[in-house]
Parts: sequence; structure tokens; C-alpha cells
Amino acid sequence: MNFFEPLVFRQHFPLLDIEFGQGDSQKFPLIYFDNGATTQKPQSVIDSYQQFYCHNNANVHRSSHSISTRATTEFEHARVLAKNLINAKHAKEVIWTKGTTESINLIAHSYARHNLNPGDEIILSQCEHHANIVPWQIAAQLTGAVIKVLALDEDGFIDVNSLERLISNKTKIVSCTHISNVLGRINPIKEIIVIAKKVGAITVIDGAQAIAHLSVDVQSLDCDFYAFSAHKMYGPTGVGVLYGKEELLSKMLPYQSGGEMINQVSFEKGTSYNELPFKFEAGTPNIAGVIAFSKAIDFINAHFSLELIQYERSLIDYTMQQLTLIPEVHFVVQGKPDIPVISFIIKGHHNHDVASTLDSFGIAVRSGHHCAMPLMDYLAIKGCLRISLAAYNTFEEINYFIDKLKEVVITDNSIVELDKSSDEVLINSPSDKILALFENCKGWDGRHRQIMLLSKQLKPMPDECKHESSLIKGCESLAWLTFTKDSQGNFFFHAFSDAKVIRGLLVIVLAAFNHKNSQQIEQFDLENYFNKLGLIKHLSPSRGNGVRAIVDKIKSITQ
Ligand code: PMP
Repeated sequence: MNFFEPLVFRQHFPLLDIEFGQGDSQKFPLIYFDNGATTQKPQSVIDSYQQFYCHNNANVHRSSHSISTRATTEFEHARVLAKNLINAKHAKEVIWTKGTTESINLIAHSYARHNLNPGDEIILSQCEHHANIVPWQIAAQLTGAVIKVLALDEDGFIDVNSLERLISNKTKIVSCTHISNVLGRINPIKEIIVIAKKVGAITVIDGAQAIAHLSVDVQSLDCDFYAFSAHKMYGPTGVGVLYGKEELLSKMLPYQSGGEMINQVSFEKGTSYNELPFKFEAGTPNIAGVIAFSKAIDFINAHFSLELIQYERSLIDYTMQQLTLIPEVHFVVQGKPDIPVISFIIKGHHNHDVASTLDSFGIAVRSGHHCAMPLMDYLAIKGCLRISLAAYNTFEEINYFIDKLKEVVITDNSIVELDKSSDEVLINSPSDKILALFENCKGWDGRHRQIMLLSKQLKPMPDECKHESSLIKGCESLAWLTFTKDSQGNFFFHAFSDAKVIRGLLVIVLAAFNHKNSQQIEQFDLENYFNKLGLIKHLSPSRGNGVRAIVDKIKSITQ
């Protein structure tokens, strides 16, 4: 029987022990509530890389020397562990991929594109991740197939009745998520699979969120395909699994081609393909990653227990109870999730503002559309906040998070200009003035406060200026940019965003670019400016947090 004790479990994860904060600022341990995006890694997984590269590094399957044999043995042992983890019938039904996204793409390429005909139907649900939507949309475009979408019930589960209504003899593929990355509900996939089978449709299950929280048995589910990623279950990034039934996989054409996936290659006699699973594993695989993944499976096997599940349940109960006490919190669906993935919005506050303020206190949560834009539309929201917990999170962390969330909630969020007499002073100032403001800020929390203060510099933009051409694309919150150019060729930009944090960043960027001509804008060293502001670590202009999108929009105007 496995032993689970939360604090002992937590000690396996070195990153959770590191204190963050810079210089004289207060140091705090990271509170990591973004496990749905990726989990932290235990020491055994981290050590596995060192061990492999120091002792066993060689290519797999193709050399006749002993070090390659060692690498191959470990690599194939990982496949057996993955097979056992999901109770597949054969190890050859486990295909290594980069992750869930690649696993689903593989099916869409190698199965859907060759088996769908015009008018055939693919059924998805409203709560799918983009990884389980876009590959099917492309396959549908190429084959003339049609996508139908299952509704959800009020508690956020896929509605089986809606499947009964939509399914027909035209349905060829039903692809659903086991657990939505936003809603955290275990969908009735067993029933869905039974219904799909009645019309002969193949079933694809996106197990990305389920794999770390449930024991999955693909034979008992009787699904045709099951996809998941190692990095969401304490394993490394860049490794995933596509489980497929042998009879289907063996009939499918390869996904990628080249070395390793062939049996024989000849210009005269043509090429024949390797046996399963190698037919789907062209080129050198992520050998170190796959072996490190085997350590994550060992880790899960050693710790997964009733106690761990109960502990995760108690984290859900406590967090839900505490969040419910904050009147401004609105859950995106009613009821309680099955895994510790909780999504909500805070009335009167932009999700990005809440997330970035929590980040300044060392709490990592996720905000935005969570790669589930159709779900956001379905729920009639622009985005939401998501906390996703793992068994290493603690009640103390939840208490700290709730305290800080309450502080955010009581913050006045109205748009007040700093100094009415000197309207939008700082966006008209040289960037030196902004640099001076940040000089005495300590740590990310101090700098974040300063960004939020700067946000008050921007005057609201009239609605008639907010249109498609002024929209800043690629910024997850809504933001707009308009400009004028004087007779000397100098630009003046005005901008606005629905998120405070983006308004603050806009002031910083506009102070650098306003009243300059296109050459001066081109030459301005933004990287250095952000570096001097002490923001590069948090808001590197090359990261997708809005800054890049703002700068790209400005440059598209000035170039
Ligand atoms: N499906 C779901 C439900 C997910 O949560 C994710 C990751 N957020 C994916 C698919 C894609 O996984 P990956 O990025 O590891 O390919």
C-alpha cells in the first residue's frame, strides 16, 4: 500500500523550496497554482537527465554497441511502464509523441484525413482545448467533413443527451476531453464511447488533465485512442503518449517519415514501413525525456493512493468554501469540480489584473481563455482565472492566496487620472521620467504596484475609436491603439485596454515611442529600457504578455 503524507510528498519537488523576490524585497516561496498548465518535477525526474547523459547517452534501436543497448532498454522499459499505467493490451499500442497536441494531430493526419469523406461528421464538445479542435477543423476542411458540437449541462459536464441527439450514421469520429482544463469535471466518457460505438464511430479521448488525477484503464473504457502529456503528471515537457488500438494503428499511414519508421527503402522497389509502434516514430526520439518520464511513472506509482485522492478532494472542498465566502467571486459553472481545477471571475476586476497582482505576491495562477476560446464564448465570458492544484499544495498556501485575493478585490479599480491638470503626462514624457519612477521600486511587487499606478495615466478611449484596425492583436486582454502624425513625421500614440496592467504597460511603451519619428522608434532599444526598468525578468518584450503585441502594432504603423 502506498503512503501519502502531503509535506513528505512536497519535499520531492525542489522548485517549491526556492524563495523568490529580488534584492532587498521580501523573499517568498513560490505558490504554484498552475498545475493544469504543467506540474513541477520531482527530484528523481530531474536526476534522470543527468544520469542518462552522464552514463547512458546513445541513440536507440540502431546501434550494435552496448551503450545503445542500455539506452534502448531504458527507453523501451518506459514504454512498458506507460502501457501498464493506462492498462493498454500491448506496449506497441503506446506511441511516443511530443505531447497531447501532437498525439491528436497524429490521429487527425493519419486517420481522419484518409478515412473521412464529404458530409461525414466529427463530434467534439463545447469544452475542448484548442488541441482537440483545430486538428479536426483542418481535417474537416481537407475532406469536406463537418464538425458538430456537444452541449454541456449546467454543472459543466458534457451532456450525453446532446450526443444522442447529434449522433448519426454519418458520425465517424467522436473526440472528447476526459476532463476539461477549465471546468475540472470528469466527463461521462464511458457512456459517450458506448454511444459512439453503436454507429461505428471511432473514439478519441483527450486525457491531458485526467492522467495526473485518475487511474485510467483504456481497455475498460474501450476507447480507440487516448492522448496525454508527461509534463502534466510530474514528468518532463516534450514527451507525450498516443495510445491507439493495434487494429487501427496497424491500418493507418505514417504521420511523419524518415529514419526509424521504415522497414526497407529503395528507389526501385519503393519503401515499406516498420512495425508498430516504430511506424509512427520517425527520427531520433526524445530519449532522455522518455526515460525521465519513466521516473515520473515510478513516482506516481509510488505515491498514487486513496489518501492522495482524498487529500486533493479536501483541497477542492476548502478552496471552494473559501472562495464562496468572497461575494465578488463568480464560478464559471455551478457546482464543485472533480479535480482541483477551479475557474472563476472576479466581478469588477480584469482577470489579468488579478493574476498579475497575485504574481507580484508570488502566487502563480492562470488567466485568459485557457486555449478554450469556444468554451469562453459558450459561457459568455471573455476569459477567467483558473487555479489548478496538485497534491503538493497546502492549506496554508490556500489561506495566503485567499488573503491576497481579498486584498485585490477591495482595491479600487476605477479609472482615475493621477493628475487632472497634467492630463496623460507620462505618455508624453521622455522614457527617462518612467525610468526615474522605477528607480526606487523594490522587487516585482514594487514594480507591479508602479505599473498599476501608471495605468491611471491613460484616458479612456471613445468607443468609436475601438475597432478592428485599432485593436492590438495578440494581447489576451482587449487593447486598442490610435495615432496621429505631425508635419515633421513624429508620431503620437493613444492607447487603452480593459486590463489595468496592460494600461500601465501601455504608458511605459508609449513614453518610449511618443513624439518620435519612425527611424527613432526603430532605433529605440526596448530590451535595454525594460532591463533598466527591472521588468525584463517578468515582462520580457519577447514573451506573449501583451508587450510584444503592443510594440508590433506600433512598428506596423511606423515602418
Ligand atoms: N488538452 C487539454 C485538456 C489540456 O489541458 C492541454 C494542455 N493545457 C492540452 C490538450 C495540450 O497539451 P500539450 O500542450 O501538452 O500538448
